[in-house]
Amino acid sequence: MIHISKNLSSPPKDLMDSKWNKIKADASVNPKHKADSKCYRGTVIDELEKLYNFKCAVCERSIGIDLEVDHYRPIKPRTCSDPNDKHSGYGWLTYEWSNLMPLCSNCNRYKSNHFPIFNVIARITNFSHPVAYDFHKLQTTEEPYLINPEFEEFPEKHFRYLRDGTVSGRTDSGRITIEIYKLNSRSKLRDRKRIIESILRDISEAFYSYITSKNKFDLENTLYSILKKSLLNAYPKEPLSLFNLFILKYFDKFIIERLPESTRNITKKMYEEFLKEI
Ligand SMILES: [Zn+2]
Repeated sequence: MIHISKNLSSPPKDLMDSKWNKIKADASVNPKHKADSKCYRGTVIDELEKLYNFKCAVCERSIGIDLEVDHYRPIKPRTCSDPNDKHSGYGWLTYEWSNLMPLCSNCNRYKSNHFPIFNVIARITNFSHPVAYDFHKLQTTEEPYLINPEFEEFPEKHFRYLRDGTVSGRTDSGRITIEIYKLNSRSKLRDRKRIIESILRDISEAFYSYITSKNKFDLENTLYSILKKSLLNAYPKEPLSLFNLFILKYFDKFIIERLPESTRNITKKMYEEFLKEI
């Protein structure tokens, strides 16, 4: 997850369209209101795709047609024994720009209507509450555990990636976010492992060519290109950018230690030289 800067004072045209006023009014007062997807279909989905670079807001995987508009504060109630997670739904936020984010179907399915908060006694339960529509005040009042990339300036501080590609939490929010969205589910972990495997494969191929060519200049150039590609993959618009950044930052742990001993020194030297340049 990486920070996303959304302009809350300028919602997409469709959310402001007066033709949906009746639907919006119903969402605020009717606990059985069902989100009407026709209000999202046009400019809302377009804006979310652009803002999030066609990625899931949480796991950062690419989402094309798989994009689902999620309500950060769930609109349906959650009945469970956990007092932190039990709530009566936030129906009045069904069509609020601040409450909408794009998720992949996998994250969306696991999240369901979970919304644990720290400040349980301050849970907002009604649209008439003074802060009911104020995203920042809602956040600071309720103190949700699920990290919101639009509110949290540095979401990365809550997470750390381990050598095998699993993600672990550095904070309670990080741990709960990982648990609820199942950020270590098989498919998510598989996608992270593939990145590591792809870099290892590229480096192995470079050394394989070197065995026959004995051309050290070519080898160094290829290693440099591999590192450059890793850097480009860590740009915020790229899928899994945070994980790619971690790999580049801890290249020793993720990549070099896994290489055959005979190839480590030269790879490490190229990595160190590359770091000086960027
Ligand atoms: Zn996802």
